[in-house]
Amino acid sequence: MNQKILVLSEKHGSKLKNVTIEALTAAKQMKKQAGRIVALCLGTYTEDQIKQLAEYGADQVIIAEDESLNVFTTDTYTDVLYQVIKEENPDIILMGHTGEGKDLAPRVAARLGIGLISDVTAINFENGEIIFTRPIYSGKAFQKKKVIEGKTFATIRPNNIPMEEPDLTRTVDATYISTKIYHNRINVNEIVQKATEGIDLSEAKIVISGGRGMKGQEGFILLKELATVLGGAVGASRGACDADYCDYSLQIGQTGKIVTPDLYIACGISGAIQHVAGMSNSKMIIAINKDSEAPIFSIADYGIVGDVFEVVPALIEAFRSVKMNVI
Ligand SMILES: Cc1cc2nc3c(=O)[nH]c(=O)nc-3n(C[C@H](O)[C@H](O)[C@H](O)COP(=O)(O)OP(=O)(O)OC[C@H]3O[C@@H](n4cnc5c(N)ncnc54)[C@H](O)[C@@H]3O)c2cc1C
Repeated sequence: MNQKILVLSEKHGSKLKNVTIEALTAAKQMKKQAGRIVALCLGTYTEDQIKQLAEYGADQVIIAEDESLNVFTTDTYTDVLYQVIKEENPDIILMGHTGEGKDLAPRVAARLGIGLISDVTAINFENGEIIFTRPIYSGKAFQKKKVIEGKTFATIRPNNIPMEEPDLTRTVDATYISTKIYHNRINVNEIVQKATEGIDLSEAKIVISGGRGMKGQEGFILLKELATVLGGAVGASRGACDADYCDYSLQIGQTGKIVTPDLYIACGISGAIQHVAGMSNSKMIIAINKDSEAPIFSIADYGIVGDVFEVVPALIEAFRSVKMNVI
């Protein structure tokens, strides 16, 4: 029997989400010799996006180009994904552990009557078996899981599976399918983009995060400046969001977004467990806090004990001059 792996593609504006490319990379690692990777696109995709899916490993691209799928709703996406899985009968289903993935995957798994391994941060192979690693207890421990029966269904946490280089010679023909939407209880009239325009916080390689120590909205303007110089995104603690220093869409933590950037700079954040749950897997953590006893220093790779209003402007100036010298 030929193995089939279905990857649900996601876009952010005109670009494929990095996590889609990471899921394709994971699919390539899992693919057996006679296996096939099928990328599923919901809504309108351009030729460039289809080509990119092929370059990163898709052997086939299926597009459900119903106009109503250009906007995500739980009902429509669940209906279509369920039908495609029934029709294609893949052995493995992968998608990002994104807002959409977190919403869809459990519903579709329940409808199919199969299990789900969510929030995967690593994939390994032991004696021919696929072993998935996922964080538990707010990132304090890791759990290893394998599927012992039925289809394998997993969501992948963004920024954890290193993307492979694309093979620019690869192309693929897209197959357009029509699907039936049985019920949709939600009409989206308007989408208002909030503060996270530009780099997607969940996928950013550099995150500059601010807490109550930033004192106000002006403090966040400073962080935005640092993020712009470094090409990163701005995040926040719930303390800062509650105090109205910034929008809740920036909140990182247990009840906010989970990020795994290469560099996380925590500015005026104490390091409460609920915040740490959303960023402790970052590859390098730098903390700036005037209190040398702040808990954030216990998980930081580098700590700067000082006033953010002195340290952050100094960093902006230093990084700017390094960039100028490089140019
Ligand atoms: C159920 C639940 C869920 C939660 N979910 C989340 C979540 O998802 N994300 C989250 O972040 N929190 C969450 N919280 C809240 C969390 O417990 C903390 O209250 C919150 O993270 C604190 O935010 P903070 O670090 O910005 O503020 P504070 O704890 O007040 O810390 C501010 C820090 O700034 C430092 N500081 C002050 N001035 C300066 C200065 N000039 N220069 C340098 N440093 C300075 C201080 O020394 C201090 O360490 C949750 C809480 C609960 C109960």
